Amino acid sequence: MPELPEVETIARRLRPELVGKSITKADLLWSRTLATPMPAMFKKQVKGQEIKAVHRRAKYFVIQLSHFHLFIHLRMSGDLYIKGVDSTPEKHDRLIFTIAAEDGTTRNLVFNDTRKFGRVWLVKDPDDVIGRLGPEPLSDEFTAQILYEGLQARHRQLKPLLLDQSFLAGMGNIYTDEALHMARLHPLASSDSLNREQARALWDAIRKVLQEGIHRNGASIDWVYRGGEFQNYFRVYDRAGQSCPVCGTMIERLVVGQRSTHVCPNCQRNRS
Ligand SMILES: [Zn+2]
Repeated sequence: MPELPEVETIARRLRPELVGKSITKADLLWSRTLATPMPAMFKKQVKGQEIKAVHRRAKYFVIQLSHFHLFIHLRMSGDLYIKGVDSTPEKHDRLIFTIAAEDGTTRNLVFNDTRKFGRVWLVKDPDDVIGRLGPEPLSDEFTAQILYEGLQARHRQLKPLLLDQSFLAGMGNIYTDEALHMARLHPLASSDSLNREQARALWDAIRKVLQEGIHRNGASIDWVYRGGEFQNYFRVYDRAGQSCPVCGTMIERLVVGQRSTHVCPNCQRNRS
């Protein structure tokens, strides 16, 4: 499923296509895609709104409008792209916005979602959707000290804690496995067992793998997102049975909190 680097890549790609244009219409093809408000209100409120900015928060794609914030969470299989207004809707298109430029030309912004887990919110106050998220991992507010204190304040296994969006926003299965391997930490290690040095190594690894993921335009694996190449640079993720790039030991697959998890049993021994 799309994680932070994939959503960031989509936001960077769509930003120049959208900012400064206006939404003239919304066609909702699958009503449950819309989390809030109700469909009739949504269509009325979104119509005529100018797109002021396009960005990402955690794994949310965010469109800042004149008077509202539009949030799109791609979940398992969502994708966003621009198409011509005359193109025929695809089978899994769930929501289509018609976007008009100042010169009157129109195009469609399409939300396509095969598995239907994706959700869209139109709200006045962004905190209604993202108010409970933890720090953004690539932001200045997320420091090694903040991470260390957060780890110490909890007694939880590292991997489930890093996936907890209220602890740290935007980490998913791929980048968590990659970061833990880079930091030489076991996914089952208890958060409060880490010393300052280990917490700093984890902080550094989280930022490095996310930056590398963005640099590679994300990873294209088991969802509709295409165009990334980070999957060619995985250290451990999806590499069970292959050798660790650091020490050559065979990578193992575990299940942690119902999530498929990949570790090097030699590099990642720490499991207090
Ligand atoms: Zn290793």
